[in-house]
Amino acid sequence: MPLEFYYFCFFLFGLIFGSFANVLILRIPQEQSIVPRSHCPKCSHSIGWQDNIPILSWLWLKGKCRHCRTKISFRYPLIELMSGVLFVSIFHQYGFSYYTFELLIFAYFAFVAAWIDVDHMILPDVFTLGGCVIGLVGAMLNPERNFYDALFGLLLGGGFFFLIAYVGELIYKREAMGGGDIKLLAWIGSVLGLNSIMYTVAVSAFIGVFFGLVRLVLFRKSLRDPVPYGPFLVIASFCYFLCDIPTMVQWFLFLPLQP
Ligand SMILES: [Zn+2]
Repeated sequence: MPLEFYYFCFFLFGLIFGSFANVLILRIPQEQSIVPRSHCPKCSHSIGWQDNIPILSWLWLKGKCRHCRTKISFRYPLIELMSGVLFVSIFHQYGFSYYTFELLIFAYFAFVAAWIDVDHMILPDVFTLGGCVIGLVGAMLNPERNFYDALFGLLLGGGFFFLIAYVGELIYKREAMGGGDIKLLAWIGSVLGLNSIMYTVAVSAFIGVFFGLVRLVLFRKSLRDPVPYGPFLVIASFCYFLCDIPTMVQWFLFLPLQP
């Protein structure tokens, strides 16, 4: 089989899982069953298979419900597309390996958890604590990984933010860091290992500051408005296993010097 075929398959899997991600993001915080057929939130018409094809259905229906013409958010196809790109990127970087399988599980559920954090400012324990367990078990089973690297990653991830949260609470006399973020970083450590923690903390802080400034300048939002931190951690962890940040920074810094 040509390599392009596998790329296509991973993209397709990513799209299908992305479609399911939309269901999880919507229903898990409301503790609804994830099994029943999807239906339009406005007119309650159940959505047939032909209207449930990732991205294509949304384009075909021009972003509106077939029955009541209510607008369907652009976010649905966007999440499907992002999931597809995520799957292909992991395959591109790691090929057919145990680690690809582990990363797909981690990245997919971290992606879903990040969106739930965007919507509700919570990171459900099912994802973070469940992810820690799966991360450690994966490290035991996967010959490409070192169990102690995962264990110390988990401990440092959990411990580092716990310390920040504790000191923050002492200084500000209120909760400075959500417990969900601590568990998320522990989860990241259990899958990506000890070295990923400092990287994730630094890059997520950088992204967070950048995001805060953009919000301040473009949307005139106050820096005091609460922003979920989970998505920054997740994006930073994705950068850790997908991109070569030092090279990118160098490229970025030297770019203006070129004619
Ligand atoms: Zn409808």
